Amino acid sequence: MITASLSTHTLHEGDRGRDVPFGGNSMQHGTAVFEGIRCYAGVDGPHVFRLDDHLRRLLRSAELIGIPEPPSLDALRGHVLAAVPPDSPDCYLRPVLYAPDPVLGVNLGALRFRLGIEVWPAGPVTDQAGVALTVSPWRRPPPECFPAGAKATGAYVMSAVARTAAARAGFDDAVQLDLRTGRVVEATVSNIFLVTNGRLVTPWLRDGPLAGITRATVLTLAADLGIEAREQAVDVRELHQADEIFLTGTAMELAPVRSIENRPLDPARPVFRHLLARFRAAVTGTGPAPAGWRTPAHSE
Ligand code: PMP
Repeated sequence: MITASLSTHTLHEGDRGRDVPFGGNSMQHGTAVFEGIRCYAGVDGPHVFRLDDHLRRLLRSAELIGIPEPPSLDALRGHVLAAVPPDSPDCYLRPVLYAPDPVLGVNLGALRFRLGIEVWPAGPVTDQAGVALTVSPWRRPPPECFPAGAKATGAYVMSAVARTAAARAGFDDAVQLDLRTGRVVEATVSNIFLVTNGRLVTPWLRDGPLAGITRATVLTLAADLGIEAREQAVDVRELHQADEIFLTGTAMELAPVRSIENRPLDPARPVFRHLLARFRAAVTGTGPAPAGWRTPAHSE
């Protein structure tokens, strides 16, 4: 394995004298996979939400893009739980499997991967003001172009381009459509739900959205609450007829959409509110949660 020697160059005055790490193969080619996981302080002590589901998805991402010798589920679980800060368990954890060496080439089988875990303090981030959403002109590649189930860093440049263009046009986020079918896939870093006549709909996985864990959670909670919910093809025109729209993701939880292409949505959001209350009860332990959803972060 040939590695290059590294030299980094300061671009900003404030960075002078600081050790600014250089990213190696994964930074240059997007050859890393990652997860975003929440730990909640909870009424009964700190618990990580759907830990094994996240770690299984991380291993699946690694397999899909061909990362050699990934760690075991047990090893990952141990590392992530150990990374929860004892004094501030309300946090967001991001395990990343990445190739740090300055190695040329895109054959992942020839690279050495390591695990890094970033930890951020996180309180509830659900912004009740709501998201101003647009439809991005930047479409998503169909599943024949890239394995949609792989949460790989390189794929996120497509989200970055769409989100940056949306922000320049004055919106908070953008819905992306499938290149071929023109159907709704998801927002840049979250899944999308529409409520029409009291019925919940989210794009089915065959149109390429990430199999979001919050998405799956919402579908389970909706069934518990007796809210009719379907995974199906979503035509872009349905966005313009929806009564409520909301986004889901581990970091944002459930985030209401206040407008779609500048069409205001009803701020009452009865279905969203119902689901959010039930979601927060499940993650914090004040309400029911199926077995396996809450892993104690600090086992004494
Ligand atoms: N889609 C994309 C593209 C995402 O980045 C995320 C955030 N991980 C989601 C959906 C939501 O997934 P989850 O609920 O598992 O966080």
